[in-house]
Amino acid sequence: MDAKAFITNLIRDYYKNVSDFPAPEAVSSREFGVGTFERKILYRHIEFKSKNDLRKYLIENAPPYISCSTAHYKFPAARPMEKKGWLGSELVFDLDVTDMHLPCQSAHGRSWVCAVCFEEIKNETIKLIEEFLIPDFGFSSNELEVNFSGNRGYHVHVKNDSVLTLDANQRKEISDYISGNGIEVEDIFENMGQKGHALLGPKPDDIGWKGKLARSFITTLNSGTEQMTKLGIDKRIANNLYKKRALVELGIKNGNWDMVYIKNKADFWKTILANQAIAQSDRIDRNVTKDPSHLIRLPESIHGETGLIAKKVGIAALSKFDPMNDAIAFRNGEMEVIANSQQKLLINNEQYGPFNKEKVKLPVYAGTYLYLKGLADII
Ligand SMILES: [Zn+2]
Repeated sequence: MDAKAFITNLIRDYYKNVSDFPAPEAVSSREFGVGTFERKILYRHIEFKSKNDLRKYLIENAPPYISCSTAHYKFPAARPMEKKGWLGSELVFDLDVTDMHLPCQSAHGRSWVCAVCFEEIKNETIKLIEEFLIPDFGFSSNELEVNFSGNRGYHVHVKNDSVLTLDANQRKEISDYISGNGIEVEDIFENMGQKGHALLGPKPDDIGWKGKLARSFITTLNSGTEQMTKLGIDKRIANNLYKKRALVELGIKNGNWDMVYIKNKADFWKTILANQAIAQSDRIDRNVTKDPSHLIRLPESIHGETGLIAKKVGIAALSKFDPMNDAIAFRNGEMEVIANSQQKLLINNEQYGPFNKEKVKLPVYAGTYLYLKGLADII
């Protein structure tokens, strides 16, 4: 049996045995797309009349990838797209660790996902939920569904009827707001540039970006000079701010951002605010947010680049969720591979490798993970 047939059998067994396969709600109004090991979406415009039909298809075909539309249609299989009869689309945010440009990624490459990557992208997802979707957009946590993407990130689905009929422009506005796109420093500081006045700025409990910036600057201020220099603050000014941090914080809490003498303060705060905005941006895959016809990984399905499950995660469980334990699909048995991986694989609380073209016996979930990442051959 060749390697792909071996993994196809594992995928089939997963779909056969999974006890609570949760098809998306309104399954019959969704478009599905399936792929091969080589291509994530090879066929699309597929529809299923029921959850049962979907499951039957998955057991028969065991595709390495299956995606479904965030949109609902009258005729999901119709083509071209205009004939589907669009009824509305969920709002979905796709967070992928490769958008975070972490230092570890230049060391291990884009395709590999290390423990730091997993932690950072999870924190980013929590930030999206706790600092934007709940406080700024007023969604409640039970309207939000999170699932691990199966590989490098998380998808956050907003299940609220009010978002279904937003058009592409409105979706872009939401995405821009979260990314801090188009937010000007003059909107934040009312009297920026006026001479002879203390600089008036936002207070921590202001709504929207104003409060967000005040809170995040106070956090940075208290985290020390190194964090401040990362934001582009000159070392000398950072030291001075840190030394007088109690005073500076008190000032900001009262809306006075002028507690420490800073030359060219307009430019200074402009840089800080721009940097802070960018620090919270760039991470949201805009295509997914603003393209209502996009297909996204089916929750609880297998991801063909890892063999992991695109697992649903309750919001309360997110902070403790560990994909390399909690999303393992192929739990049974061992297999022999010739592994060639410079990175240590940390999975199910065990560490494997690095391997230098070595023949090794590994648990099936570890061997398939390396194979699917292109770092092992199956014997
Ligand atoms: Zn990493």
